[in-house]
Amino acid sequence: MSHFKIKCRNCGKELKDVYCAFCEHCSGSLLVTNYNEKHFREDCGEGIWRFNWLPVHSPKLRQPGPLVYRSEGLSSYLGLENLNIAFSGYWPERGVEIGTCTFKEFEAAVVLHNAVENGINGLVVASAGNTARAFSHLSSILGYPVLIVVPRMCLMDMWYFEPSSAIPTFAVSDGDYSDSIDVAKRFSSALSMPFEGGVKNIAKRDGLGIVLLEAVSSMGILPAHYFQAVGSGTGAIAVWEMAERFVNDGRYGSELPVLHLAQNLPFGPMVNAWKKGSRELSPEDLRPELLSLLSTRVLSNRYPAYSVNGGVFDALTATRGRMYGIENQSISDAVRIFEEREGIDIVPAAGVAVAALIKAVSAGTVSCNDAILLNITGGGEKRLKRDRETYMVEPVLISKKITETEIRQLLCEVRKTS
Ligand SMILES: *Cc1c(COP(=O)(O)O)cnc(C)c1O
Ligand SMILES: [Zn+2]
Repeated sequence: MSHFKIKCRNCGKELKDVYCAFCEHCSGSLLVTNYNEKHFREDCGEGIWRFNWLPVHSPKLRQPGPLVYRSEGLSSYLGLENLNIAFSGYWPERGVEIGTCTFKEFEAAVVLHNAVENGINGLVVASAGNTARAFSHLSSILGYPVLIVVPRMCLMDMWYFEPSSAIPTFAVSDGDYSDSIDVAKRFSSALSMPFEGGVKNIAKRDGLGIVLLEAVSSMGILPAHYFQAVGSGTGAIAVWEMAERFVNDGRYGSELPVLHLAQNLPFGPMVNAWKKGSRELSPEDLRPELLSLLSTRVLSNRYPAYSVNGGVFDALTATRGRMYGIENQSISDAVRIFEEREGIDIVPAAGVAVAALIKAVSAGTVSCNDAILLNITGGGEKRLKRDRETYMVEPVLISKKITETEIRQLLCEVRKTS
């Protein structure tokens, strides 16, 4: 017997044995995992596998979660009394070693196990860098085939622990992250190998929701406020869904955490839509030329899960949330302030969340004794490179115009030479 079912947020229909689907009736509605157990437990295993609210039956890989701790340095700088930091990265001095240095590692761990248990024997993954690193690392440990598509402009953020020949990686030379998603879908249909599914995949959302599981485990209550930098919005939706489970449990508070979500300007489609109270993103705000101006390529998703039923718009509405637009200059300041006050380097995307928190404090949006959770989605890359050898990825370059036939030919050639 499975410990969960999958349920449509819109019509309530329960589905079994589906992998990455939309409801058959409601094409624009996310499915949500419905766990049989109403009460949160953390005695099911080790690391992230100790939590009962994950869609995996028998984990094979050891996987630690983020470090959640009560801040001293940044909190005294900001005059906050109850600032909690969820750090997903490499910081051995504090006992946390997320080797691929971002929260995408939890997503990859849960998605890969869930795919194996669904009888899926390989996945195509599109990434702006961090997802690729997490999937390539875990898939090589698990011996599970994945094929990765990234935009060429993200290659400088790409490093693997293994020489990249072990993991087939394709770089789209004439396109951005969103073009890579399109190409990945073409790879998927050319190879009959499923696409990892993006926000539709319940395992991806529940994997990212581990940040809130660890936070509640450490804080003993739901935070009142949650800060995160968003690209696709999947992580934020995940936290909202996990928070609903805690509210339903009843022992951790009755209020959903207010979502404070941030994007890197000038690319702020969700910031602008939310300001207008609109469920629709404006095409004007999604122009590809905006993306080259960002210091955070991982946030450059032109297909965010904003309008979909159960997506970011609904999450912001349900939690009375806010959106923040953060300029490049504020990001580098925030990264520097965090490193000075907390003693560890963070990735620019995490700096976006820190900058949003700084804004919220100075605007008086949060009070000094509110329980706040700051999601540091990635960090410790500089620290890691002192300890471990990494390899730059050597991808096969392709065009965003590549057809399915060309993809099949290309893969034959790649297999022959490797
Ligand atoms: C992917 C990513 C984000 C954004 O997460 P979404 O779920 O796409 O909104 C933020 N920070 C880092 C470090 C990431 O890798
Ligand atoms: Zn439905």
